[in-house]
Amino acid sequence: MSKIIDIYKNKPAPVLSFEIFPPKKNSGVASLYKILGEVDPKALGVDYVSVTYGAGGSGNSVQTRKIAEYIQKEFKIPALHHLTGVNQTPERLRENLDAIQTAGIENILALRGDLPDADYVNHDYPYAKDLIHDIAAYTDLTIGAAIYPEGHVDSPVTGISLNGVKEKIVNGTDFLISQLFFENSVFYNMQDALKANYIKVPVSAGIMPIISKSQVDRMTYMIGSSLPAHLIKLIHKYENKPESLQQAGIEYALEQIHDLLDHGVDGIHIYAMNRSKILHEMLPIINQEIQSKSTV
Ligand code: FAD
Repeated sequence: MSKIIDIYKNKPAPVLSFEIFPPKKNSGVASLYKILGEVDPKALGVDYVSVTYGAGGSGNSVQTRKIAEYIQKEFKIPALHHLTGVNQTPERLRENLDAIQTAGIENILALRGDLPDADYVNHDYPYAKDLIHDIAAYTDLTIGAAIYPEGHVDSPVTGISLNGVKEKIVNGTDFLISQLFFENSVFYNMQDALKANYIKVPVSAGIMPIISKSQVDRMTYMIGSSLPAHLIKLIHKYENKPESLQQAGIEYALEQIHDLLDHGVDGIHIYAMNRSKILHEMLPIINQEIQSKSTV
């Protein structure tokens, strides 16, 4: 199976990926596999699939590895195994990494993770950079990390933290995936800041299609992403028409992606939320656009 950094380096077009999360109940895994099987990610040009860890409602982190392993075996594309520093100790981290490597997984997205409460501190891994450091020291895995075009919600500073990004890279990060955003200008401003600071690691743009008003409320509260006026109007227009709102959300996300591809982004990462509709309706269109950008 490939290292994701080699895909970014060698693919003559933007890299396409999407994120899924381990279902809360084991019984949900079969339906997730059914959705993935119906989509056939490789046939639709997907370069890798990322699997969250301890997020999205899952308390069962072993599922991340099992699902990542399944994706690689079934679809012959690399999986990106998310891993968080919350509740890790150096011993537990090594055990996790051993199991991940034994499963044939070569790519990790290393994160601090959301803190269980405001007073929680993990002295071994207070920040993602510390986890990244130990993963890089112990393994030869490709390491991805998160980047926040509008700043991290806990940070007192709005906008990208260049020092935070630099620390992640110095400690071993090979590529970055952005937090979701609804206004492309925030991503372009971040790209300009990275370029001005000679930061050259590939960055995929994270896009989450809107599926409901409550999801938008939750996301803007949890991650602090700004909502452009035209998107707010769209949400109001379809507030009581859930299917129309979903459709409008997918179309809005596709417009964002179209513009991002025109601006030559390194990659598109879709927060797919295990939704078959998102994958079915978005991947064929994005794949076609990406193929048309291919330089060979
Ligand atoms: P960090 O980079 O460590 O940043 C956390 C906070 O600490 C920020 O406010 C930052 O400004 C501050 N900080 C960083 N370094 C320093 C320093 N040296 N000194 C002082 N302050 C510092 N969560 C999950 O639980 N599971 C997942 O699978 C998951 N997947 C994600 C995937 C993507 C692409 C993204 C964007 C996020 C994901 N998250 C996931 C959420 C993520 O765990 C949270 O956003 C978390 O709060 C921060 O993680 P981080 O790795 O960016 O942390």
